[in-house]
Amino acid sequence: MGWNTLDDMELAGKRVLLRVDINVPVDNGVVSDDTRIRRVAPTVADILARGGSPILLAHFGRPKGQVVPEMSLSPLQPALEAAFGAPVVFCADCRGPAAEAAVAALQDGEILLLENTRFHSGEEKNDADLAAEMAQLGDIYCSDAFSAAHRAHASTEALAQLLPACAGRLMQAELSALEGALGQPKRPVTAVVGGAKVSSKLELLGNLVEKVDHLVIGGGMANTFLAAQGIDVGKSLCEHDMTGTALEIVAKAQTAGCKILLPTDVVVAREFKAGADNQTVAADACPADAMILDAGPATVAAMADVLASSQTLIWNGPMGAFEIPPFDAATNAAAQQAAALTKSGDLISVAGGGDTVAALNQAGAAKDFSYISTAGGAFLEWMEGKTLPGVAALTR
Ligand code: ADP
Ligand code: MG
Repeated sequence: MGWNTLDDMELAGKRVLLRVDINVPVDNGVVSDDTRIRRVAPTVADILARGGSPILLAHFGRPKGQVVPEMSLSPLQPALEAAFGAPVVFCADCRGPAAEAAVAALQDGEILLLENTRFHSGEEKNDADLAAEMAQLGDIYCSDAFSAAHRAHASTEALAQLLPACAGRLMQAELSALEGALGQPKRPVTAVVGGAKVSSKLELLGNLVEKVDHLVIGGGMANTFLAAQGIDVGKSLCEHDMTGTALEIVAKAQTAGCKILLPTDVVVAREFKAGADNQTVAADACPADAMILDAGPATVAAMADVLASSQTLIWNGPMGAFEIPPFDAATNAAAQQAAALTKSGDLISVAGGGDTVAALNQAGAAKDFSYISTAGGAFLEWMEGKTLPGVAALTR
């Protein structure tokens, strides 16, 4: 791998500037979901166990370069102490004399939490001066914030250039999983791409057809591909202005030797609501007054064959309107099959995307996937084949 990890670093007696993403939901001053905090706990524990001092850098909300008291990180302190099992000291700035004094006063075994990096306008501008001030607070830079790595900000990019830099345990796990799925994957590789719109996933589709062996297209975006073949999709969600683009993607796939699987049968309804009266029809037989809300059983069976013959799966976007049963059927079936294949050691499965993670959880499948990325925008940009500044800065 082209990046250092904590294993490559001498940590004893070192101040480690640890960039984390702890943008957790807070209700009335109390953290209501500490998932993101728990995910960085192994890195914090590792640094402490090896005699280093973790100094946490993080953003919180979008204060846009102003001090916004409601977006202070200080209410997170108790939740951090609970998750890390160690004392957390809070400092009301992430730079300057106050931060320097807090670092100097830090005792062995303590963790320092610095205030929201976005209280300074230099953060989102990747400002060199702000990065230099933060660099003075540490000896080593460690990033565990893959989900913020698609943004070149002072605490994710410029700062990484100024100190010996490495990936934390969470970042390391995320990079290894993603590298295993698209970098040097076991073939055949299948990508499942669904969700609402082609327009939001254009670059992603364009990159994937060059890298994967099979591309399964589902969800609302499949309607656009069907329409591109001259099929009438009735009242379905469909971007008619994107049909030319859909044909270009199909042509690109053909050149690259990527096989595209589109729905051959679909579940249609006249209302977008749970339990709506529905029927299964051939993909080219959607009634004019109905809309396609899920893939049908024949499509699910064809998809099952593709998955069974694959070694690696990368998934973004549900196969149908999974929020309203029974239009979650195709998504659930594929998710459960992928989970079972992964559990039996026959598939490496990586998935990401806000609705995708929700859909896989709903199907009870997420826990058996090889890796579920919660990184959102960073995951998508990585799937698009882009270099993420916060990752590139670690690979020196
Ligand atoms: P993610 O957040 O995982 O990237 P998207 O936001 O692209 O996924 O897509 C998820 C949305 O797509 C869901 O709200 C789902 O209801 C919608 N969707 C999927 N299939 C259809 C369909 N056939 N018609 C309308 N909406 C659909
Ligand atoms: Mg979404």
